[in-house]
Amino acid sequence: QNAAEGQPADLSKAGRDGQAGRPLVVLENVNKHFGDLHVLRDIDLTVHQGEVVVVLGPSGSGKSTLCRTINRLETYESGSITIDGIPLPEEGAGLARLRADVGMVFQSFNLFSHKTILQNVTLGPIKVRKMKAKEAESRAMELLKRVGVDHQANKYPAQLSGGQQQRVAIARSLAMEPKVMLFDEPTSALDPEMINEVLDVMGQLAKEGMTMIVVTHEMGFARRAADRVVFMADGQILEQETPEEFFNNPKTDRAKDFLSKIL
Ligand code: ADP
Ligand code: MG
Repeated sequence: QNAAEGQPADLSKAGRDGQAGRPLVVLENVNKHFGDLHVLRDIDLTVHQGEVVVVLGPSGSGKSTLCRTINRLETYESGSITIDGIPLPEEGAGLARLRADVGMVFQSFNLFSHKTILQNVTLGPIKVRKMKAKEAESRAMELLKRVGVDHQANKYPAQLSGGQQQRVAIARSLAMEPKVMLFDEPTSALDPEMINEVLDVMGQLAKEGMTMIVVTHEMGFARRAADRVVFMADGQILEQETPEEFFNNPKTDRAKDFLSKIL
């Protein structure tokens, strides 16, 4: 059906192998406030190994806070979060390990500007994973090749385009061998012509079975890569369903309103 319409191939789990793996990220009844603002309300969310979950919702609905809470960049007041069965640690060595297990790619690429592309990718594995420099370098080159920027390895971030920098940021996260990758609007800061080169890398990752939570406004990506769409508004998850169901048959007025503005 997709092919007949000239659409890119179906990258969703169903289009890959149809089977969801074990629960990898589990949030139960999570609540968080910023002062008086109840920014995460009774969040229940389970992401299985190999699953691609796209989080949609209007600006200010709590999508970034959700990602940052899963990565422990934010605290939360009640409920529980486990990563691969292990509760989120408060601090210490457990936290460093968690950060290695949960890769995160932000809207701003956050590369180290005074380090080369190669050094940006080898730094984490050498410092946190205690990998030997030679091994870290050869693995980094493989990853840079995978995201198509291996020819830029000895350049500095400012010498690369935004799309290239974001692909380096993805390679840098992958170098830590995360169990799950969080993407928070990874293409929002990019010029339009660079958006697809980043989405293509993400689509490839999805196809290879990476577990992913993706906040994005790219509805084409949501339609073809997501196993599930999670729709948030005012700190709550209002809908969770397949992209087909969400886009064709949204249940809540908030979702209908959201879709009417973007489609
Ligand atoms: P989204 O990513 O969906 O646009 P955010 O998670 O960034 O939403 O923000 C959710 C709400 O929390 C917004 O009202 C925002 O202004 C507020 N907020 C986000 N970060 C902070 C913070 N550090 N302190 C206070 N309020 C914040
Ligand atoms: Mg945000």
